[in-house]
Amino acid sequence: MQPEQPERGKETGWSSSQSPLRRALSATLVYLVAGIIWITFSDRMVEIWFADPRSLSAMQTWKGFLFVVVTALVLFTVMLRLLSKDRLLLSLQLDQRRALRQREQQLRVLMDNLPGMAYRCRNDDSWTMLFVSGGCEPLTGYLPDDLINNKLVSYASLMDPDAIEQVSEEVAIAVRKGRSFSLEYAITRKDGRKVWVWERGCGVEHDDGSVFLEGIVLDISDRKQLETELEEMATRDPLTGLLNRREFSRVLEEELERARRYERPMALLWIDFDHFKDINDSWGHAAGDTVLCAVSEILTDRVRSVDSVGRFGGEEFVIVLPEMDVEGARDTAERLRQRVGNAPIPLESGHSVPLTISVGVAVYPVHGHTVDTLCSAADKAMYQAKMQGRNCVAMAQPIEPVHNET
Ligand code: GH3
Ligand code: MG
Ligand code: MG
Repeated sequence: MQPEQPERGKETGWSSSQSPLRRALSATLVYLVAGIIWITFSDRMVEIWFADPRSLSAMQTWKGFLFVVVTALVLFTVMLRLLSKDRLLLSLQLDQRRALRQREQQLRVLMDNLPGMAYRCRNDDSWTMLFVSGGCEPLTGYLPDDLINNKLVSYASLMDPDAIEQVSEEVAIAVRKGRSFSLEYAITRKDGRKVWVWERGCGVEHDDGSVFLEGIVLDISDRKQLETELEEMATRDPLTGLLNRREFSRVLEEELERARRYERPMALLWIDFDHFKDINDSWGHAAGDTVLCAVSEILTDRVRSVDSVGRFGGEEFVIVLPEMDVEGARDTAERLRQRVGNAPIPLESGHSVPLTISVGVAVYPVHGHTVDTLCSAADKAMYQAKMQGRNCVAMAQPIEPVHNET
C-alpha cells in the first residue's frame, strides 16, 4: 500500500508556507518587538529594584550580557535548524539525482539490449525520430544520430513507397481508436539490402494534445525467408521448380472459373514422355532427372506468361492455356512436341539424349465443363496419342451433345 501523501502545502506548516522574505521579516519583527519590550521594561524594572547607582550600573551591564546570551542562543537554535534542514534537502536531492541516473542507465541498458530498435517519433509524414535505441544500427545500418530529427535520412524514406500508404493508414486507424498497431513491411538498409521488419507501437498523447508514436521494430527477414521457402515447398515441385500437383489443380480451378464467368475458352495439355523408362535404364536416374529439368525449361520458355505449367508426377506434365480455343491449343501442343523432339537433351556426361512426347489436348467448353472431366478428357487423349504411335498430339473427344428425345 502507498503511504498516505500529506496535502500539498499543509504538511510543512508555517515554515514552508511563507516566502523566504516574509519569514525573514517576521523573524526580524519578533526580534525587534522582543528587544524593545526587553529594553523598555527591563530598564524600568532595574531602576525600581536597584536605587543605588553602582548596583544599577552593574545590573545594567549584566542585563546587557543576558540579552546578548539569550539572542545568541536563539540565533544558534535558528541557524542550527536552518542548516540541518538545508543539509537534509541537499542529501535528498542527491539521492533523487542518483536514483534518476541509475534508472536512466537501467533503461538505456534495457533499450540497447532489446532485440531490434525501440523508437519514439512524431506522427508526421516522415515519422521523424526523436529517440532510437542502439538497435538502430544493426537494423538499418544508420547510426541513431543519422535518423534522429531526419538528420541524414527519415525513417519513412527507408520504407518501400507502396508500403508507406498502407502503414500510414493502419497507424492512423490505431491512433484514432487508441489501440496499438502491429505491422509487417520491408525497409532498405544503408547498404542497400532489403530487410523485412515487424513493428509494434502505439500513439502516446501529450498534455498539449500532440500525439507521438512509441514502439519497437524487429528484423524478421529470417522468418520471411522461411515462410517463402515453405510456400515454395508447398506449391512447387522440388526437382523442376514447376507447380506441383496440388498448386496446379488450384490454378486450373481458378482459370476454369474465370473462363466460365467470362464465357471464354481454356485449354489443357496433358504431356507424357515417350519411353522415358528407357532413358533411366540406359543413362541412369540422374540423367533422367536432367532430362526432366531440361524439358520443364523448354515447356516453360515456350508458353505465354499467362499460361501455367505443372508437374503432375513422374514424367507427366500439364499446361493450362487460358483464352485458348481448340485450334490454338492444337498448334501450341504441336509446336511443343516438335521443339522437344527436334532437340536432343544434352547430359552432363557430354552425350545428348533424344526424347519425344505424346500430348493430349482438351478444351473448355468443347471437351469438358469441370476440372475432373477436362483432366480425364486430356489424359485419355494423351493415351490416344500413345496408341497412335507416340510422338504426336491427340485431341479429346467432344462431349456428346444432349438430345431431347421427344
Ligand atoms: P510410355 O511411352 O508408355 O510412357 O513409356 P514410359 O517408359 O515413359 O513409361 P511410364 O510412363 O510408365 O514410365 C515412367 C517412368 O518415369 C518410370 C520411372 O522410372 C520414371 N520416373 C518417374 N519419376 C521420375 C523422376 O523423378 N526421375 C527420374 N529420373 N525418373 C522418373
Ligand atoms: Mg511415359
Ligand atoms: Mg507416365
